Amino acid sequence: MTLVVRFIARAFLLAGSTIAATAAPMLATAAAPVTAYFGGIDKSAVPGNDFFAYANGDWLRTAQIPADRASYGVGEKLTEVNEQRVADLIREIGGATPADGSDARKIADYYVSYMDEEAIEARGLTSLRSSMDQITAISDRTALARYLGGTLRADVDILNATKLETDHLFGLWVAQDLDEPARYLPFLVQGGLGMPDRDYYLKDSPQMAEDRTHYQAYIAALLKLAGESDVDQKAASVLALEHQIAQAHATREQSEDVKAGDNHWTREQITSRAPGMDWAAYFAGAGLEHQSDFVVWQPAALTGIAALVGSEPIETWKEYLRFHQLSHFASFLPKAFVDEQFAFYGKVLNGTPVLRDRWKRAVASTNNALGEAVGKLYVERYFPPEAKARIEDLVRHLIAAFAAGIDELQWMAPETKVKAKAKLATLKVSVGYPDHWRDYSSLDIKRGDALGNAQRAELFEYQRNLAKIGHPVDRSEWVMVPQEVNAVNLPAMNALNFPAAILQPPFFDPHQPASINYGSVGAVIGHEISHSFDDEGALFDSTGRLQNWWTEADFAHFRASAQQLVTEFNGYKPFPDLSINGQQTLSENIADVAGLAAAFHAYRLSLNGKKAPVVEGFNGDQQFFLGFAQSWRQKTRDARLRLQVISDGHAPAQYRVQTVRNIDAWYDAFNVKPGQSLYLAPAERVRMW
Ligand SMILES: [Zn+2]
Repeated sequence: MTLVVRFIARAFLLAGSTIAATAAPMLATAAAPVTAYFGGIDKSAVPGNDFFAYANGDWLRTAQIPADRASYGVGEKLTEVNEQRVADLIREIGGATPADGSDARKIADYYVSYMDEEAIEARGLTSLRSSMDQITAISDRTALARYLGGTLRADVDILNATKLETDHLFGLWVAQDLDEPARYLPFLVQGGLGMPDRDYYLKDSPQMAEDRTHYQAYIAALLKLAGESDVDQKAASVLALEHQIAQAHATREQSEDVKAGDNHWTREQITSRAPGMDWAAYFAGAGLEHQSDFVVWQPAALTGIAALVGSEPIETWKEYLRFHQLSHFASFLPKAFVDEQFAFYGKVLNGTPVLRDRWKRAVASTNNALGEAVGKLYVERYFPPEAKARIEDLVRHLIAAFAAGIDELQWMAPETKVKAKAKLATLKVSVGYPDHWRDYSSLDIKRGDALGNAQRAELFEYQRNLAKIGHPVDRSEWVMVPQEVNAVNLPAMNALNFPAAILQPPFFDPHQPASINYGSVGAVIGHEISHSFDDEGALFDSTGRLQNWWTEADFAHFRASAQQLVTEFNGYKPFPDLSINGQQTLSENIADVAGLAAAFHAYRLSLNGKKAPVVEGFNGDQQFFLGFAQSWRQKTRDARLRLQVISDGHAPAQYRVQTVRNIDAWYDAFNVKPGQSLYLAPAERVRMW
């Protein structure tokens, strides 16, 4: 299910790509002496025809995607390293018998409970009994609404579109009011689907039809395992209901339109505009009975789904809810459930042949439940103060390059430049980890109760969000955990998070040439900064108020450049029947161009007029662009690639690399000539910043 709210948070990578496995070592670390900084190049490829193939072709020829992965590359390899580190930390603290009630004890107990397959097998469905009984007891639409409200969770997938567990009918996110940025409001967003996007239900293609067939079989399989009868018929009616929900859903492009989403509705307006749902019962179930103001992000979806709650048979809803309980918690149930869940989400939707080792899933689940508690231990061990200081220095260079870029812009009105600089000056950049750690003292973790722990962790996260309402907005709150290989811009907060885990080799390594650091992590930082200044960033002023600070002429230039970029990306065709959607990936592609340009500028500034040393026969500019292209080194299975092209706001890695064609210096660095595939005449190159 996709509840994308990218105006609140825009991740650098899709979080679904966090992974690991066993494969040839490809990270240059300080411990292991580096044989080559620029290995894996295909010298037979022409840089001007395919820069991704040139920079990575040799690696691509021999790299194997591990059987438990949908993709593999630099980011995944680093994720693997971090995953092993976290697992070691967890086992270590578990061995030290931490005090009752301490975070360390909770982490250890959560992990051990997840790992205890024997106990999980023995419990069977016992842990789900009380939720299942509640569903069985639903006798009228008021009870149905109360139950639905009781399952509202803060599990809105704000960062990416490939996380599949957000299957509640609506999702809730507590964020700052876009009109009054000093206060929090609850945002209600569409949900209720088990497949990743409405397209999976509504599109005619044979591939989608096949996915629907598999999904229906998956629904039937879970109901059967739970001891139900007539499962084929029930599965058909659950799928039919989800089909109707999908019809009510806004499209991805609609959901990303901030102005279309910023709808302030009172509880009374929700009640009168979205009949069918007993909203009083719903909000009572959700613990929101005293909340009068909401933001309804997709009004037509709220109305459409509420109508279905009123019109569709209660028995169908109950079947739907039973299935979703089973599917939502399948990874905490006996092996038969785990296998069915993997067969659909892993194999069918992502093309991954083999389920990941249990310890890796346990680490992921612990990170999910107790992310900052684990993160605190992680940074104590793996992110020394010197590393933080060095990255902060790099960030300062990037911000200086950005500020200089603003001065040099031809197209931006002088009054807009003043506002841009004010916004840059108030940008809250957090490096490594948050200023304040989350308090987990009210979260109860019981050894031996894996599923109950997961349920309590979800409820804890929901209540933590509700508790923000009525308090001042905290710009230092993080939306990622420090041990995640990713980065994020929070446009409405005018804040950036750079987790410690991405500030590691090969993205950043004080021992490698500075050119590579600027091309890899520098471009990441530039990418995130630029989100504050793109067409969406233009909608939020320096306080985070939804208030356009650009002139009409600024927008006109931006739109013209953006259109060139849409055309560029529409031209990439990963499959005969599927092109990259230049519009869907536009914001991220803009940030890539802007980030790369700023990183290059910062790199040049960092040389202080000196010539960069030649490394392995490459000059400084060549090293910079190779560092960039190799930081995107990745191989992806077809099913995952297809999923990403359809449902993600980011273009696949190999196309993100080709954006070098928009930077003048790349043409000189690699002697790129007219007639080569990536060649753009100077006027066609996209210059945002
Ligand atoms: Zn981005």
